[in-house]
Amino acid sequence: MNHPIYEPRAAFQPHGHGHTAPVRPSCPLFNTLPRADHAARSRSPRRGHQLSACAHNREQAPPPSPNSPSIHPSMGSMPEKPRHGLGSLVSGLQEVCESGVTKDLAWRRSQLKGLLRLLTEKEEEMFDVLRDDLGKHRAESYRDEIGALVKSVNHTLRNLDRWAAPEKAQAPLVSFPATALVVPEPLGVVLVFSCWNLPLGLALEPLSGALAAGNAVVVKPSELAPSTAAFLATNIPKYLDPRAVKVVLGGPEVGEQLMEHRWDKVLFTGSARIGCIILAKAAKHLTPVALELGSKCPCIVDRLDSKRDTQIAVNRIAGGKWSLCAGQACLAIDYVLVEEKFAPALIEVLKSTVKRFTATPECMARILNEKHFKRLSSYLKDRKVAASVVHGGSVNPKTLTIEPTILLNPPLDSDVMTEEIFGPILPIITVKKIEDSMKFVRSKPKPLAIYAFTRNEKLKSRIINETSSGSVTFNDAVVQYVVEGLPFGGVGQSGSGQYHGKYSFELFSNKKAVFKRSFLIEFMFRYPPWDNGKIGMLRHVFNTNYVLLLLGLIGLRR
Ligand code: NAD
Repeated sequence: MNHPIYEPRAAFQPHGHGHTAPVRPSCPLFNTLPRADHAARSRSPRRGHQLSACAHNREQAPPPSPNSPSIHPSMGSMPEKPRHGLGSLVSGLQEVCESGVTKDLAWRRSQLKGLLRLLTEKEEEMFDVLRDDLGKHRAESYRDEIGALVKSVNHTLRNLDRWAAPEKAQAPLVSFPATALVVPEPLGVVLVFSCWNLPLGLALEPLSGALAAGNAVVVKPSELAPSTAAFLATNIPKYLDPRAVKVVLGGPEVGEQLMEHRWDKVLFTGSARIGCIILAKAAKHLTPVALELGSKCPCIVDRLDSKRDTQIAVNRIAGGKWSLCAGQACLAIDYVLVEEKFAPALIEVLKSTVKRFTATPECMARILNEKHFKRLSSYLKDRKVAASVVHGGSVNPKTLTIEPTILLNPPLDSDVMTEEIFGPILPIITVKKIEDSMKFVRSKPKPLAIYAFTRNEKLKSRIINETSSGSVTFNDAVVQYVVEGLPFGGVGQSGSGQYHGKYSFELFSNKKAVFKRSFLIEFMFRYPPWDNGKIGMLRHVFNTNYVLLLLGLIGLRR
């Protein structure tokens, strides 16, 4: 099937340097979000505003071709004319990479600065689209997406020269004189699939890493956050080099079509089910894939002796559940493990805190859509689960809202305890001794994150040593996401491949091994014709510590 690609008017203005490369000047954007669907969403009474850009653009958007996906209204601000298909999009990006333009450090810096300008100049629009898609409050949007991105891009800009510099490695003395280097090089053309719950962060964070590493990038935002997707499609070409960065809109069918092509790396954020499809398709081209998936993140709460410690722990638990996209986040706390005797006190503080934190409706994001609302409501319809509700539990199908809900010991074989919850329901599971919680965690697939609130250093060590997860955070929740020095990613069923900060740079780079020798010395024992003497020499070369030998020869070591 041939897809139209549209060339927008917006031309990239390089900042900070005048480097231009002889590459195709096209800026294809491939759009497949049905116009009617988006218009219907924009009219929805749940969405308090319309995107002015979209409203304006809708009039100018070209009519969809009968053989092609329809055109998203956001494209209308830029006059578009049909070009080629996805194949030509990928080959165009390959040409850009081959021209060397993306490798240039000045170009990479200009892209990161472009991202920073996008994040500062369009802050208000970003608040609008995040509220439109998910009902997020501006403060939550700034904390989890815009502010976190600004912090991360600044960190990358500060460190880029160091990360991109060749790193010296140790060369064996026997090869003297020689130099060993690890030289990072861009992978080429990479594809980023993002998810709807942090629709800006999960698109722009990997994008910034891929650009810092010198790649050309295609971003495929989630169709389930259409306002943010449209925002990205409209603004990325205005702030970043449209020759090297493309936004492709659409749903699963577009995702599958993208995966028909050869990429130098794919970073996929989403569910394990779709992750399997992506992996299977990637195998055809041996495309390496990083999978950022979900899991049930446990939170172990030890007995905390002071009221202050308990309140701080509960603030952080409530924040890591209900104030993080209403629990619709991969890092959100899924369930709490606590000793039986400490559970009643914990629940009381949790109840009063969540009431305070969600006193007004705009303090909690809303459930994404009817499908997710039904999924979450069905957990609570289970008779035994309903009996375990100790706080909240009410649902409103008209507004698609679910009250912050606390369950005490729901059945362990119920859906709410076997599936990732991804919503504002918090089960509390009691254990006899807090040490038993590790066995519980180990009995489930390895999670993306484990949280534990405790002052007990021995327990902390045991959690680190006796469990496996993408991260472990003590006495807080979710904040590890914005610690650039730490890798972000899962293990086992919660994913593979880590990014953020230097780890993003590494994820999107090839660490090329470079070894430079001279013609000065030549050992003939490494070549045939073979004899036993040569084995002896090889044995020496492989097993002798030449530094110790040298120290011995000059009398510094006996
Ligand atoms: P999803 O897996 O359905 O979709 C994610 C992306 O894949 C979207 O861009 C979508 O268009 C695309 N897609 C869907 N079907 C496809 C197909 N057949 N072929 C190619 N692409 C396809 O997203 P979801 O299930 O709504 O996401 C929720 C899950 O994502 C949860 O499990 C959550 O924990 C996880 N998640 C993980 C992270 C992380 O960083 N680890 C972050 C956010 C969400």
